[in-house]
Amino acid sequence: MARSTIRWAPKISREAIARFYHEELTGKIDLKAAEEVAIRFYLRCQAMKMYSAGELQCPDCGTVFRFQPEGNKPESRGGCPNCAWYATNQEYTNSRRHKDLNATNAMPAVEHFLRIYPGCKTTGQLLIAVDQLIHAFHWDSQLSVPNRSFANNLIEGSLEQVVTFLDALSSVDTNLKTQWRQTVDQMWQRRRSKAEAGPAPNAPTGGSLKTSNKSQISTGIHPPLPGSRG
Ligand SMILES: [Zn+2]
Repeated sequence: MARSTIRWAPKISREAIARFYHEELTGKIDLKAAEEVAIRFYLRCQAMKMYSAGELQCPDCGTVFRFQPEGNKPESRGGCPNCAWYATNQEYTNSRRHKDLNATNAMPAVEHFLRIYPGCKTTGQLLIAVDQLIHAFHWDSQLSVPNRSFANNLIEGSLEQVVTFLDALSSVDTNLKTQWRQTVDQMWQRRRSKAEAGPAPNAPTGGSLKTSNKSQISTGIHPPLPGSRG
């Protein structure tokens, strides 16, 4: 029998999210249906956590373990501590490629979601938790400016498609949405200036835009953007 291949929790479709929002906001959803959508975000966040720790989940027995191959060769094997399953270095590396699982600069949002998800007991709580998560950003740790919408790691589609989708999505929290739109403007401005001018100049003055690790949402206070001072 062929060996099982490594699987990572996939991104979530825009259709499933739009339906979740619409049905929750019009009171048409039950807890089971809400959980079916929200758990996919949970599994995706778990996958990002594993990815960043060099871990994986055994496709045969479900054990999460650190991938530690016995050598550096492509064919060197790393095995599950709980069953006979193993993967080679090459297979492990290939499984991680192009999966958008690297949450580095948005990890506080991932950890926050993983922490609060088990305590969400109503459809409304699940929606709020998802809403906070998908409106988070990757922050440039030196410049305290948004590099990219984190939703792009969670939702199917290009950065443009995902941002357009979120913009049109009903507001659960109006303040959050307003802040999000301001941060998106900042992000596009930054990405444009980076594309035009190459690497950004020195860090702007002003405080960090990061909120606590509750979520990675802009406070709405804008530090001067690179190149916007003159
Ligand atoms: Zn196993």
